[in-house]
Amino acid sequence: MTRVIQWLRMRTLLLSRHFAQKDDVLVRRSRRVKGATTTSRQQGLPYWNQQQLESSTVVNVGAGGAGGELCLGQVRKGVGSIHVLDGDVVEATNLNRQFFTAANIGENKARALVKRLAREGCCGSQLLGHPHYYDASRDTYLEQLRPDVLTVSIDRYVPNARASLSLLATRLRIPTVFLAISDDADWGYVFVQEPGLNNACWGCVIRENESGISKRCPGTVGATVDPLKMLAGLALYAVDSLIMGRPRDWNYRALSLSRSDVLFSTMAPRRLDCQLCGSAKQ
Ligand SMILES: [Zn+2]
Repeated sequence: MTRVIQWLRMRTLLLSRHFAQKDDVLVRRSRRVKGATTTSRQQGLPYWNQQQLESSTVVNVGAGGAGGELCLGQVRKGVGSIHVLDGDVVEATNLNRQFFTAANIGENKARALVKRLAREGCCGSQLLGHPHYYDASRDTYLEQLRPDVLTVSIDRYVPNARASLSLLATRLRIPTVFLAISDDADWGYVFVQEPGLNNACWGCVIRENESGISKRCPGTVGATVDPLKMLAGLALYAVDSLIMGRPRDWNYRALSLSRSDVLFSTMAPRRLDCQLCGSAKQ
């Protein structure tokens, strides 16, 4: 087992050097606090497997409010290798809810987030900031890397990015967690796409044109930190369920801040006439 972990760490190191040379990727490592007590409380939880977590790789597309919360949780828990992709730049209007300070204004979000996260962890996580938006035509490194989990928390800018990532994840069999927040910053959903012929893809269940979620426009809609915390917690749990097998009886769940009723929580089936995954699964 130790040799497997050493091999995985060596592979991660070599790939990170490859990416850093190729694409201006910022590579950092969170400090490892000596002693066995830093993770002892979480290791007391059922289904927790710290060794599994520390040998895992998660790629996070989006370093904004939701992506920042997702990455912060991963580095605190001790995910071994955490990649972040974002081509956006930190602005003053981001500071009320995103994991940046005034000193980060003007910096690329992925690189700034990696610098911030490096001071937060205690398990020696490797952090890689890719300073560009996801682009299906150039992001072939996902095929090389084959992360254990992909998270997608982008809410704007890149047309069809969620659909493209869903299709890629289906083809490469990468478990993927999608997170999105409504225009009124009151509710949102987490959807978990798992590999397998019978499992739903993002396109099987999400009708974004009807939900209003895809209409979010930068700088024009209200935004606060509350829904980010609420949904990122749920998405972080979903990541754990995929890496460590923490129990989960849903793949599609929505939560609201103002309404006492949970909007829904379901294990959505694959839709047989879904065009998105139909061709990839044939
Ligand atoms: Zn589908």
